[in-house]
Amino acid sequence: MQIYPQKRGTKDFLTRQVDEARIPHAQLFLGLEGSGSLAVALAYISYIFCEDRQNGDSCGVCKSCNLSHRFIHPDFHLTFPVIKKDGLKREETTSNAFVADWRKLILENPYVNIFDWTVAMGGDSKPNINTRECNEIIQKLGMQAFSDGPKVMMIWLPEYLGKEGNRLLKLIEEPTDDTYLILVSEDQNRILPTILSRCQLVKVEMFSDEDITGMLQKKGANDQESIAEIVRLSAGNMSKALRLYNGTDQLFSDLLFAWLRAAYKGDAAETGQTVVQMTSMATDQQLQFLEYGLHFLREFVFWKTTGMTPRMSNTEIETSTKLSAILELSKIESIAEILETMIYAISRNANPKVLWMADTLAIGDILKNKVNNYVEKFNFAYQN
Ligand SMILES: [Zn+2]
Repeated sequence: MQIYPQKRGTKDFLTRQVDEARIPHAQLFLGLEGSGSLAVALAYISYIFCEDRQNGDSCGVCKSCNLSHRFIHPDFHLTFPVIKKDGLKREETTSNAFVADWRKLILENPYVNIFDWTVAMGGDSKPNINTRECNEIIQKLGMQAFSDGPKVMMIWLPEYLGKEGNRLLKLIEEPTDDTYLILVSEDQNRILPTILSRCQLVKVEMFSDEDITGMLQKKGANDQESIAEIVRLSAGNMSKALRLYNGTDQLFSDLLFAWLRAAYKGDAAETGQTVVQMTSMATDQQLQFLEYGLHFLREFVFWKTTGMTPRMSNTEIETSTKLSAILELSKIESIAEILETMIYAISRNANPKVLWMADTLAIGDILKNKVNNYVEKFNFAYQN
């Protein structure tokens, strides 16, 4: 069982439960995005299945380890949010349709988030866990175990479970022997309260700087300066560290620059092209980009007002320098307000094409000083 050193307290607590045969029936592993809560839960599940536990670690070589380390143990059931699968109706699509893709992705990188997962499914819609899935969970846990051991159902991101999740309450309240439900969540506030109150909570802390450094070195990073930069920018978030290492955030920085420049120039063809680029991203990716934009603006203001080093990569500082000419501090608040409104609208399924086009034009107006704020308008009217 591989759990990072700073997760030691969590690990001891979890392995002791298994060793002393008092595993809670329903547990919720809770850790922010990038905390590795999924990796911890998976290691814990392997430990439960292992036939030859070694002092707090699964042996890694027994038949059960062999299967559970590849997430194919027949008594290990998996549920996660999905989108519609080609050839199936949305309400018919459950985790079964995507389980091979999930295993492949998680074997490569257990620190992925919902955005990475949506992209891996080839999706452009918001994933969720539907009613049929809930019925399948109940059915799977009602079956006889294949081997003569425990049965485990892991639900990754139960925050994507709507009211239909209440179907699971009976399962949680009236457990069958040697059956365990493990929920792995990034956002406690979005979980059904009825489910939350019935689970034992396991909190997973963020990673230490040493852990992030270790992982980057394992991935082949050897330039000390760029390692230190990623450690500083990721602030304990392993997903973000890997995204920075793979260059995904650099992509957002380039895209943000292209977008603001198109808005400023107001050239119809270029604006149209940028809008197509934005709307061709999955919904979650659009939201992630807008969140990135807000983060960028905050750091930009911090940099401009204090002159201190922002939490920005060298590329982002270059982008900021280029944007300085058109992005005056007085305009940033209005632009940030637009980004926040867009996040709100997109997460509630507004028409993305109309939204991106209208807001690109609105940002263009702000950048070109075509709009004054209300106070200026009021003062002008008053003075005249
Ligand atoms: Zn084993």
